[in-house]
Amino acid sequence: MARIAIVTGGSRGIGEAISLALKDAGATVIANYAGNDERAREFSERTGIRTYKWDVGDHQACLDSCAQIAAEVGPIDIVVNNAGITRDGTLARMSYDDWHDVMRVNLGGCFNMAKATFGGMVERGWGRIVNIGSINGQAGQYGQVNYAAAKSGIHGFTKALAQEGAKKGVTVNAIAPGYIDTDMVAAVPAPVLEKIVAKIPVGRLGQAEEIARGVAFLCSEDAGFVTGSTMSINGGQHMY
Ligand code: NDP
Repeated sequence: MARIAIVTGGSRGIGEAISLALKDAGATVIANYAGNDERAREFSERTGIRTYKWDVGDHQACLDSCAQIAAEVGPIDIVVNNAGITRDGTLARMSYDDWHDVMRVNLGGCFNMAKATFGGMVERGWGRIVNIGSINGQAGQYGQVNYAAAKSGIHGFTKALAQEGAKKGVTVNAIAPGYIDTDMVAAVPAPVLEKIVAKIPVGRLGQAEEIARGVAFLCSEDAGFVTGSTMSINGGQHMY
């Protein structure tokens, strides 16, 4: 039976690659996005993957949209919490809104989506949740106290929820990508990016597909014994 998967932020960047990898693996994929209608329409026409627009930071919107998807498509077996934003700045320059927006979307989104879907997975005795963290949640990063805190929180959230799902056939894992060649990284100033790449042992940025292959494995039947783990896919940075 084909599994039904939701990928948040699934219409571009790493999320697009994840949506395609899960589709290739046989899942019926729904890609969520926040506001870029043109990109979502182009993605949907090109891939045949349905898109649904809502803000993952909005608790009620997650509950309502997941209920709508369950009614229109079927029970949700797989959730990939990939949607994420940055609002960088040193602590001195970071506003409370910059802090709150990032916590709300990057960490709050994982809670909201789990509240909407985890119970159904437990009832049916099978489920996969994969949360996209970050190397900067593991190591910290200058000018990112909000992002590093939210991503670090994802790793704790993952281990805690994995314990609730472990005996029920529901695995919960995280992937911590290093620097991946997407719009998010394109926003980093070139001189800063050059310094970042110089510190990556394999000597290049990662590709979105390299993260997607890890997600596809964690969502597969074969990964039933993997739970509460964080897979670091970062070109050899921070080898711990
Ligand atoms: P992009 O900025 O390229 O894409 C972000 C995606 O998330 C878009 O689809 C966007 O929708 C969606 N999104 C943003 N906010 C919301 C929201 N509130 N509700 C629903 N969807 C939302 O990001 P990347 O592909 O680079 O990153 C994907 C994930 O990987 C993020 O969690 C990021 O933190 C993480 N990551 C990325 C790294 C990198 O090097 N790129 C490194 C480590 C982690 P829309 O198209 O409508 O704007």
